[in-house]
Amino acid sequence: MAARLRLAHKVCIITGAGSGIGLETALQFAAEGAHVMLTDINEAAVLKAAELVNSSFPNCKANGIKCDVSKELDVKTVVEKTFETYGRLDVMFNNAGIMHGDDDDAVNTEERIWDLTQAINVKGVWYGCKHAIIAMRKNKPNPELGLGIGGSIINVASFVAILGAATPQLAYTASKGAVLAMTRELAMVHAREGLRFNALCPGPIRTPLLMDFLNTPEKLGRRMIHNPMGRFGEAVEQAKAVVFLASDDSSYINGTDFLVDGGLHACYVTSE
Ligand code: NAD
Repeated sequence: MAARLRLAHKVCIITGAGSGIGLETALQFAAEGAHVMLTDINEAAVLKAAELVNSSFPNCKANGIKCDVSKELDVKTVVEKTFETYGRLDVMFNNAGIMHGDDDDAVNTEERIWDLTQAINVKGVWYGCKHAIIAMRKNKPNPELGLGIGGSIINVASFVAILGAATPQLAYTASKGAVLAMTRELAMVHAREGLRFNALCPGPIRTPLLMDFLNTPEKLGRRMIHNPMGRFGEAVEQAKAVVFLASDDSSYINGTDFLVDGGLHACYVTSE
């Protein structure tokens, strides 16, 4: 008998799906049988992403829609549209985030950079959680399709929420710490409703977000020496972890700081 796909018939929203981890997760979700509502502030990128998913996985119904996660109305509209289109919501992947090139230390970070970073990375995750909870409470069991009540919410934090970064990016680090704390509390408050919340903590990944930030050989080298595996991670390696957290394979995993960092958090010295 063929194995059941891990996200068969599940309805999933991904924020920041136009690039990097979000885009790879859209492909992995579709490969596992999910229907995906892809959202991003970059409309052209997210429409292209939906086209790619639909052409790669004809059984998946992918839609692309513009959404700025720092605007509550945008997030609410996307969640409501998803429920209208697919009749339920099983997985919310709050992935969209920024690391601004002008982010710096306590003295030099401008207030506008601080506020922009918190608006997208923290408030955006809160809005995603809030509207996912409202929608997921309306899920009805569908035994024919193997779907139950509740849902899985995955919020993207970072390994820098656990380790201090000696190269300053204070607004970003603080925002990701907030995501960890918020996720833990939501996991406890909503556990008895069948809603699971976990925080994904990626290590340094070869995506535009990081590569645009590490725009000199010095900046790149300063980080590379800390990687026990001698390389940055790939977005698809995060996406595969997200599939696990989204699926019922992780049904007893709740409130975790899920590190996918090649062992970086456990490392003191990597080379002579
Ligand atoms: P990326 O830049 O490749 O993709 C991020 C996507 O988010 C882009 O498509 C962008 O248009 C979108 N976005 C930006 N602002 C938005 C907004 N206001 N509303 C909606 N969408 C918006 O980045 P990535 O590396 O794939 O990062 C995804 C997540 O992973 C982020 O939360 C990031 O902080 C986190 N992360 C990344 C790394 C890394 O090394 N790349 C490490 C740890 C955590």
